[in-house]
Amino acid sequence: MNKTHNPAIQSWVESARSPETDFPLQNLPFGVFRRKGERAQPAVGVALGSMIIDIGRLHRILPFNGIAAKGADACTEGTLNRFLAAGQEVWSALRAELFDRFSEEETTNRPVLEQALVPMTDAEMLLPVSIGDYTDFYTSIFHATNVGSMFRPDNPLLPNFKHIPIAYHGRASSVVVTGTAVRRPSGQTKSDDAPAPSFGPTRLLDYEVEVGMVVGPGNQPGSPISIDATRSNIFGLCLLNDWSARDLQKWEYQPLGPFLAKNFATTISPWLVTLEALEPFRAPAFQRPAGDPDPLPYLSSTGERETGGIDITLEALISSQRMREEKRPGHRVSRGNFKEMYWTVGQMLAHHASNGCHMRPGDLLGSGTVSGPEKDQRGCLLELTWRGKEPITLPTGETRKFLEDGDEVTLRGRCERNGCRRIGFGECSGVILPASGGTS
Ligand code: CA
Repeated sequence: MNKTHNPAIQSWVESARSPETDFPLQNLPFGVFRRKGERAQPAVGVALGSMIIDIGRLHRILPFNGIAAKGADACTEGTLNRFLAAGQEVWSALRAELFDRFSEEETTNRPVLEQALVPMTDAEMLLPVSIGDYTDFYTSIFHATNVGSMFRPDNPLLPNFKHIPIAYHGRASSVVVTGTAVRRPSGQTKSDDAPAPSFGPTRLLDYEVEVGMVVGPGNQPGSPISIDATRSNIFGLCLLNDWSARDLQKWEYQPLGPFLAKNFATTISPWLVTLEALEPFRAPAFQRPAGDPDPLPYLSSTGERETGGIDITLEALISSQRMREEKRPGHRVSRGNFKEMYWTVGQMLAHHASNGCHMRPGDLLGSGTVSGPEKDQRGCLLELTWRGKEPITLPTGETRKFLEDGDEVTLRGRCERNGCRRIGFGECSGVILPASGGTS
């Protein structure tokens, strides 16, 4: 931990001083934005209260020096990939400089620094990185057991789960940023009592509450990433909603895993909260029950055991079209915690690279649905409504087994701990559009 974690230091930017903000001076997450209403180019920004620090502009009007300058130089493109490739020392140096410039201890340059601030209301957020590859894990034992018991009642948790961080390769082209509408996909399904499959709009559309991890410098092809090196190889985390068509999934998933049930859309929040900002919220890795196997040595280290977890409270809210018309707030359907995951972010990356798989800057890894042991900690409707058997009721009296057209799903995440400044992730949301009428 360093001075950028000191909860006593405030920013001179008024909105960053609010105890409610997700983005106090101690957070400083990175993203890519574009000013609204101009033919503006995408620019790298850092969130601070309700403002965005335009890094390129700041570097022009008040240049950074030394290692921080290397970071700012790498922030002049419309994605964060070059900055992610620059590595932890550079990320950290730029963060420390930003912290100093925008802390209340800075008194001489404020009028100049103000020129680099853009109100969030004047900006449109874009995908923060150009995603080369996207992988989705499956690392909550509670989610895996619940879902497994629905699909395979006699054999809910497959024997590899406690040895391997399970994952499948997703599709990078499907990843969209918060606010992007999601069209209900069509596909092939077969109900148990139907003699043959049919093709049409999914009837069991779901969301999944997940955390996304973005890879930093990565590795050389053929070279694994050691468990302890993963910490300098993950730049930061975001919220991720892995939209899922359960009826397509059920018919297609064996023997090779998810395919069209998952690759029509995956929504992420726009701000990457750095591992450095998350440092105060580290937690022990999941406490494995007695009798569970220890991770193999390549997935194990003292540091990972003691502080491999991250304490992030995650909430999912549903808002129907009628709720929004009646100006009702989103209805919270679950609240879970990321520290309940069976595998850590470090173990996921170390396992992914253990065969020498080439991990590149900007690659996105999803954690898998974050579900806890309690019913209100379940991170998708499949579990919350137990495959539609126990519908949930919204404040309007409407009920939901799965998502309907017009529904909006919003994920939120925050980290809180005594003696630390609370930080948050912003929002990850999307509205469901009706299925397409034809082909394009
Ligand atoms: Ca998933």
